[in-house]
Amino acid sequence: MSQGAGKILLASRNAKKLAELRRILGPQLPHLEVLGLDDVAPYDEAPETGATFAENALAKARDGFAHSGLSTVADDSGIAVDALNGMPGVLSARWAGQHGDDEANLRLVLAQLSDTPDERLGAAFICAAALVGPDGETVVEGRMQGRLVREPRGANGFGYDPIFVADGLDLTNGELAPAEKDAISHRGKALRAIAEYLAKTEGDEL
Ligand code: IMP
Repeated sequence: MSQGAGKILLASRNAKKLAELRRILGPQLPHLEVLGLDDVAPYDEAPETGATFAENALAKARDGFAHSGLSTVADDSGIAVDALNGMPGVLSARWAGQHGDDEANLRLVLAQLSDTPDERLGAAFICAAALVGPDGETVVEGRMQGRLVREPRGANGFGYDPIFVADGLDLTNGELAPAEKDAISHRGKALRAIAEYLAKTEGDEL
């Protein structure tokens, strides 16, 4: 049995991500406690320098496991815009230069696409989720395919949500209720795959 039986670390301080993982793991692993970075002894978090979402997620999960001894889940995500050759990609959080300035990031993408015809506004949200623990490592990827709109709509979500409409919908992610977004989102898909993997392979041992 691994150190910290019954506990798993999500290498994040984001309360929304913690709540989402708890919601997803709950039904399959009701006794598993999900801790965040604020619940374990602090350690130096490595900067996100990977070329891919998977590399970044894996690096964060390895770090968490190495420092806490707990099986660790980490994710990395962003938006890939077809007309920008897949960018902002891993640079999504700091596309306009300052980490986490959602409004500036979104405005810059819209400005870059001002001459792009509507039919080439395809985009996808991508999330890689990694699990690292005593039994090894796994990484999965979730995608939400859709298109961008030129006028932001909706106050829900974060980041590029107000300018993204998922395939088959007319509402932007910013106009969806949180549970509606979770059900189809890149992060929801990736975390559900990790939950399934945990339930199958490690559920009894954690
Ligand atoms: P991180 O994976 O939390 O570091 O997110 C990277 C960045 O990608 C965020 O700052 C957002 O700009 C963007 N992003 C990732 N997932 C979403 C989403 O579900 N909606 C909107 N923006 C997102």
